[in-house]
Amino acid sequence: TAAASTSSATLKALGLDSFNLGVYNGEWSGNGSIVETTNPATGEVLGAVQQASAQDLDQTLQKASKAAKMWRSVPAPKRGEVVRKMRNALNDKIEPLGRLVALEMGKILPEGIGEVQEYIDIADYAVGLSRMLNGQVIPSERPGHAMMEVWNPLGVVGVISAFNFPVAVYGWNSALSLVCGNSVVWKGSPTTSLTSVAVTKILAEVLESNGLPGALCSLACGGADIGNAIAHDKRVNLVSFTGSTKTGRDVATVVQKRFGKHILELGGNNAIIVHKDADIDLAVRSILFAAVGTAGQRCTTTRRLFLHEDIHDTFIERLIKAYGQIKVGNPLHPGVLCGPLHTEAAVQAFEQGISDVTAQGGKILHGGRALKDMPGNFVEPTITSIAHDAPVVHREIFAPILHTIKFSNLPEAIEWNNEVGQGLSSSLFTTSPENIFHWIGPAGSDCGIVNVNIPTNGAEIGGAFGGEKETGGGRESGSTSWQQYMRRQTCTINYSGQLPLAQGIKFE
Ligand code: NAD
Repeated sequence: TAAASTSSATLKALGLDSFNLGVYNGEWSGNGSIVETTNPATGEVLGAVQQASAQDLDQTLQKASKAAKMWRSVPAPKRGEVVRKMRNALNDKIEPLGRLVALEMGKILPEGIGEVQEYIDIADYAVGLSRMLNGQVIPSERPGHAMMEVWNPLGVVGVISAFNFPVAVYGWNSALSLVCGNSVVWKGSPTTSLTSVAVTKILAEVLESNGLPGALCSLACGGADIGNAIAHDKRVNLVSFTGSTKTGRDVATVVQKRFGKHILELGGNNAIIVHKDADIDLAVRSILFAAVGTAGQRCTTTRRLFLHEDIHDTFIERLIKAYGQIKVGNPLHPGVLCGPLHTEAAVQAFEQGISDVTAQGGKILHGGRALKDMPGNFVEPTITSIAHDAPVVHREIFAPILHTIKFSNLPEAIEWNNEVGQGLSSSLFTTSPENIFHWIGPAGSDCGIVNVNIPTNGAEIGGAFGGEKETGGGRESGSTSWQQYMRRQTCTINYSGQLPLAQGIKFE
């Protein structure tokens, strides 16, 4: 069929076969279980990947530790040169890799390609950063002493990532880890194993053709078993985990117990507040993209919408009209804005969510059904009307369900924005400077991402990305996020030939 030939041409363009090995550490292997991944829009089996066994992981960590010892002594700008080559290699494959993301994860093609672009962008950023891993010089209180901060590599960074961003999240972590002088061991989601293999093949070729150890970008495909083993292993100096709050809590506890470092990027329950003075056109368009894009499967998807009572009714009317025009279907077909959910289990979670809404006193204003007559895991983009404190509203349902809630003043809406466990992203639509500065100030949003007149999703790589509370507190990508991939050392150098002690202490 046409679909099968698209997928086999895509695999071929990326050097993949119908059967692939899922472990890379300079050499390809794989002795664990064989996982077949499927296209969530059609149910078609795309290909198989043999995952890592416990021994495969052990050997991979050994090689990654060894590679890190060599890599840490390569000057950072030279490390940046290698990342620049990776960036170019990714750019050469942007179309087939974006297409594989669409086929395997289920997001629409422009979003699949956008995800590879995000990796390219962070690689550019990392190349520049490789000349700016600056410490600082601090005035010493002692005469003839110099005090400074020096940043050194950590060693091995383990990256455990979620299904919904099977390229970009690894990209953020690997590009920064590499310029910071670390090796990386990646375990992606088992249901996007082909994408993990495809990305690693691109990087492996760059490393090998430059005479560098392939283990700098190691891959150990697997499920909870391999993720758990990475969390436990002392050789992994930093575990960067992206996934649900539930799994993140377990992983963080394990890593903390051995005093390893961790970065947590967990679930969100993001809200948009539309004030009465907002540009309504802008707000409707923003919400459509933020609530329905990626079929509601972004950590930054808008799940709660607070509407000022003065504009509430007309806004809902316009939103329902806009929802009526969304095309749900195969993410590779032009014009489709909403692809499938990633798994059948996600469709069940959607249906459970809908029945909880009605059981908890809410109403379905639009959608609400799983589209069982379609071949894949499709659901209707849904709008509800419900109380701000209904338990279902406080839960992250990874599907396109948007809860709408009426408010009467901004402090109330902010309180509701902040009352959930998660603290990832938030937006306010308003034209008043007073509201804007209230929103970004100490009594405003408690989230890691605080926007005005743009939606909750679609972050740029230049800023630090992440959230507070049950979202885990981690920050990735831009700003000072790179510092988490290094060790900070405070160095005091005495060039005076005397021994003055700090705090004026005399000890003689
Ligand atoms: P998940 O928690 O089910 O899985 C995430 C990863 O953890 C996968 O690779 C999985 O195999 C692995 N894993 C499972 N059990 C493990 C264990 N015991 N020890 C170690 N690893 C284990 O999440 P998911 O369904 O793949 O992804 C969706 C979730 O990810 C949502 O909650 C979403 O909000 C969140 N997410 C957050 C961000 C962010 O930046 N904050 C980004 C993307 C996704």
